[in-house]
Amino acid sequence: MPTKKRPVSSKSSAAKATVKKAAAKRIAKKPAAAPAKKPRGRRRPVGPEVVQEIFTRFRADNPEPKGELEHVNAFTLLVAVVLSAQATDVGVNKATRPLFAIADTPQKMVALGEDKIRDYVKSIGLFRTKAKNVYLLSQILIEQFGGEVPRQREVLETLPGVGRKTANVVLNMAFGESTIAVDTHLFRLSNRIPLAIGKTPLAIELGLEKIIPAEFKRHAHHWLILHGRYVCKARRPECERCLIADLCTSPEKCV
Ligand code: SF4
Repeated sequence: MPTKKRPVSSKSSAAKATVKKAAAKRIAKKPAAAPAKKPRGRRRPVGPEVVQEIFTRFRADNPEPKGELEHVNAFTLLVAVVLSAQATDVGVNKATRPLFAIADTPQKMVALGEDKIRDYVKSIGLFRTKAKNVYLLSQILIEQFGGEVPRQREVLETLPGVGRKTANVVLNMAFGESTIAVDTHLFRLSNRIPLAIGKTPLAIELGLEKIIPAEFKRHAHHWLILHGRYVCKARRPECERCLIADLCTSPEKCV
């Protein structure tokens, strides 16, 4: 006797259709696979002859490079660098010109008071925290260092708002030491050429320390910062006017 086929329930076929639809949607939504990256191979820093040539050219082009933060002494330099975190030098100078005209020592800064300092620097990002730091570090300089800016990196780094980069700028510019302050421009440029390769500013600083000949160390960070800021820019490096283009091995090079 032939078996009687069970009628297909309309409920279960509707459910199957829904499942199929959902699966089709999922497939449609699945993002397209990312295009395979070109294998680049491991990049190596340029050799010592190239390092020598790079800095010889920077020196010939600009024998006495200067930082762009305005200051009148070690204290105002320290304050200017503290204020410059995540801000442009132009913006900081605009705010510090009138501030330093009336407060160029820790004593005068403390006498001015935190609220007034805040008024002077309110055009700069993070101004509340920065004003507080400037007031506090001025107080500490008076109480612990006789109103002088200390010359040791470890001591500088204990001041509010002062990190390794700030300490290195102060040591280099105020005390003539051959420190290398790694900012965002220098970090990018060093990894691009590459001079030193690293994932952190400290790795770059220590890498550069090792390879930059003593004769160039004092000005090295200024040459690199200025080149990174005005020529080897983040979005579109201006390779066509780069004086080290023939020595650079960056995959971003466009000449
Ligand atoms: S050639 Fe281009 S990428 Fe290389 S350092 Fe010069 S500006 Fe930067």
